[in-house]
Amino acid sequence: MKFETIKKVILAAIMLPFVFMLIEGVVVIRTSVNHYRNLEKDRQFADVLARGGSIAATEILSEIGATREYLAYPSSRTAIDMQRSRATLDDERRAFYASLPARDVLDEGLVGELSALSLAYSRIVAARSAVDQGRYNGSDPGSIYWYAALKQLAVVDALSPLINDPVLLEKSNQLMGIMLTYYGERLITGIGTRYLDRGPSARFPVELFVQGKVMIGEGMDHMVFHSATPIERDIVSYLGRSSQVKANAITDAILAGSRPTRAVHDVWAAAQNERMSFLQQKMIEAARDIHDTGENYSTRSHLHLTRILALCAGLLILATLVLVLAARGLRLIDRLTQDREALVGELRNAAQTDLLTGLYNRRGFEVAASALLTQAEHGSRWISVVLFDLDHFKKINDLNGHDAGDAVLRHVAGVARENFRSFDLLVRHGGEEFLALLPDSTPDGAAVVAERVRLAIEMAEIALPSGERLKVTASFGCAGRANDGASRNFEDLVKRADLALYAAKASGRNCVVSGPVVPAPPQEERRKAASGGGFDSRL
Ligand code: GH3
Ligand code: MG
Ligand code: MG
Repeated sequence: MKFETIKKVILAAIMLPFVFMLIEGVVVIRTSVNHYRNLEKDRQFADVLARGGSIAATEILSEIGATREYLAYPSSRTAIDMQRSRATLDDERRAFYASLPARDVLDEGLVGELSALSLAYSRIVAARSAVDQGRYNGSDPGSIYWYAALKQLAVVDALSPLINDPVLLEKSNQLMGIMLTYYGERLITGIGTRYLDRGPSARFPVELFVQGKVMIGEGMDHMVFHSATPIERDIVSYLGRSSQVKANAITDAILAGSRPTRAVHDVWAAAQNERMSFLQQKMIEAARDIHDTGENYSTRSHLHLTRILALCAGLLILATLVLVLAARGLRLIDRLTQDREALVGELRNAAQTDLLTGLYNRRGFEVAASALLTQAEHGSRWISVVLFDLDHFKKINDLNGHDAGDAVLRHVAGVARENFRSFDLLVRHGGEEFLALLPDSTPDGAAVVAERVRLAIEMAEIALPSGERLKVTASFGCAGRANDGASRNFEDLVKRADLALYAAKASGRNCVVSGPVVPAPPQEERRKAASGGGFDSRL
């Protein structure tokens, strides 16, 4: 497998799981954000419900009580109490409006209920100034407060469809149920008491009685059908008590047109008042329960937010880690590729180089000569070889040892490299024999170069491992021919150079002998040879 492919595979192995994890992380974060938003929304609704419920269960009733007390017994104490209850209602009302969701997320029905509630509160404000100016002497402003409480109830009811959380929805129904029951009971008790107090001539207010009954029925429906919380179970069991069942029977009798005796009337009034106190207490509990639920949502939504932030941070750290890892992996692969290429280069060199002298070995020479001759075909007109062999080298080995012989070979190779031309090819041809291929060189030119090398070898003082200095000589044989490009086989040249070297040895060594010059074959033969002759660079 190519290194580039390996690189891509490793990159894919690192990046693919990471991309999947990233997608998964984004999905988890999105889900968490949605969950957080829902919790926040429910927390806000819980806040609105709890405040609305508390106003209807406590503040409005307190102000009615304080106002009645003031109207019945006007004094500075009752006036202060009344002012205090007004301030508390106003504070709670402001907090209620502040806790409402933005108007644009509310539906039309709820917006309508809120406008009606504002109107109801403005009627309370008007009633307050009428009370303060003494215009309420002898009459009761209760119905104005009562109307506001009902509107408060309607807002709580209109919020229900916007609630997602089933627990909160159940609690909202519970509050609604208790409030409806309470205000229904309050209506019946108020109307009934007034009707009975006025005596037999009083008109029987059947519509108001029926309205109260309907409210109680609806309230009980909310409690019995929509939820089964401990508060509601308390209410149902309370209403099942014999005193309460008896009071219901008296209410039904009044509704049917009978007039109870004073004693029965008192029993009924006491039971009704006790029931209202009980229901008011339960309303407060239900509102507090919703408030606690909201607090719980708030904690959970904060936890969620922390989780989302932790997830984001984790994902960021993971992304950085993976990117660092990927970068490191790629750098490692690049380095391995470079090392491998360097190693391959070194191996190729080692396979083509003579380890002792650093010159080409025969294999390297074949490759280099073939490339050189291909170039030479197009340009050079002559080609020559120079073969040279150290004189009496065996004796050097024998007298100074093999290591000294090696040192001499190394040194002579260096001298030859320096004195041949830079583009001549030098090869250790075997033992203490060297061959040079001289492209674009006439036999005379080759002899000149050979003489230069011979002289340099003769002049050199070679330091042996023992510290001694040694001088050596070499004999040279040269041969050359015109380069016709027809044959890249220069075996003939080597043979002739070998003969010339033999002659040099025979003529006393340390000299250069040139072989006979071979003229270029005629044009016709060259063409034939070119069409039939194959590449042969064997030496
Ligand atoms: P002549 O002048 O006729 O060439 O005599 P010569 O002694 O140089 O030639 P001969 O062929 O008799 O001896 C060559 C010697 O070179 C024999 C061999 O041990 C030695 N030789 C060949 N390769 C190496 C080598 O790599 N290292 C060393 N130290 N000696 C080598
Ligand atoms: Mg020799
Ligand atoms: Mg030899």
